[in-house]
Amino acid sequence: MQKLIKMYAKRLRGIELSRIRKMFDIQGKDIINLGIGEPDFNIPENAKDAIVDALEEGFTHYTPNNGIEELREAIAKKLKVENKIKRSPDEIIVTVGASEALYMCTQALIDKGEEVLIPDPGFLSYNACVKLAEGKPIPIPLEKKDFRTKPETIESLITKKTKAIILNSPSNPTGAVMEKDDIKAIAELAEEKNLIIISDEVYEKIIYEKKHYSPGQFTENAIIINGFSKTYAMTGLRIGYVTGQHEIIEELLKVHQYNTACAPSISQAAALAALKGSQKVVDSMVAEFKRRRDLMFNRLKKMGMECNKPAGAFYMFPYVKDEKSFTENALKEGVVVVPGSAFGSNGKDHVRFSYATSYDKIKEAMDRIEKIW
Ligand code: PLP
Repeated sequence: MQKLIKMYAKRLRGIELSRIRKMFDIQGKDIINLGIGEPDFNIPENAKDAIVDALEEGFTHYTPNNGIEELREAIAKKLKVENKIKRSPDEIIVTVGASEALYMCTQALIDKGEEVLIPDPGFLSYNACVKLAEGKPIPIPLEKKDFRTKPETIESLITKKTKAIILNSPSNPTGAVMEKDDIKAIAELAEEKNLIIISDEVYEKIIYEKKHYSPGQFTENAIIINGFSKTYAMTGLRIGYVTGQHEIIEELLKVHQYNTACAPSISQAAALAALKGSQKVVDSMVAEFKRRRDLMFNRLKKMGMECNKPAGAFYMFPYVKDEKSFTENALKEGVVVVPGSAFGSNGKDHVRFSYATSYDKIKEAMDRIEKIW
């Protein structure tokens, strides 16, 4: 038999397995992992109860492809009240995490050779998903000082081949939150140039000083992706959703239907309970994230590290001069961090610290970082 490696599809070449995953898996008695990208909280109690009820009631079969109606209705209501986006439940697809929604959008929208503008530094999946669709990811270099996504920069990158712009606010890995005026300007640009905005809003609720705005408020050209992983610490339950114009949703559904059939039934029940229940659990999680952010930021500042104060998500992205030696030295001290270039070439010589770990562990991690800085 021939070596299998030669049989893989060409489009997989140039796609690396996530370097973050590797950092994620580093564990040990004395290791403090600041590479983690998920909330270290439990799912809300009402979501737990909903899972138990769903199991007892035998709610373990396929659901409609686009998700259970009650959940899509609750999401439609949330979009209207919180995001000023008017979408009917039929214009929403419940997905297997925001990850599936991203994959679905790129598969359904991008033709071979079409260009997609993606933030750099940015979440790894954007690059990979565009490549899996045989499109061409074009990095949007974010501003050095504050990681702003400048509309002028986006405009300068648009060519005849540009099909879509991916936005992510609050951002992974920088924690930056986009300004309303910038989002509005990019929305206008998308309309003028007939481009689609794919807006990844999974960190919408994990926000401190600023306010979240969705481009869906300003243009019909926006597809909004959101989910339950970060807001309700439900990463393992795998529920996200996507919404956009009716015609687009019909096309997206083709990819979703033949890829996953539907999101898991019991997880949909949990998501519905989380969305309909009291949001105090979210408020207290965010308050704790803020406390940790302040601790980490103040410690890094005291050490003299160059770092933009993040207004959202649970990441900090300081400049460390040499990411390779910093990452290695941190690991020697038992602290796992992710090198910035894992998020794109503009992330070089930064590292991503996640503060989705306990206050005490962050304190200890900062003591150890201080030794190597
Ligand atoms: N988008 C961003 C920016 C993320 O950071 C993540 C997860 O880390 C996702 C999407 C994927 O989330 P989900 O668990 O809903 O697939």
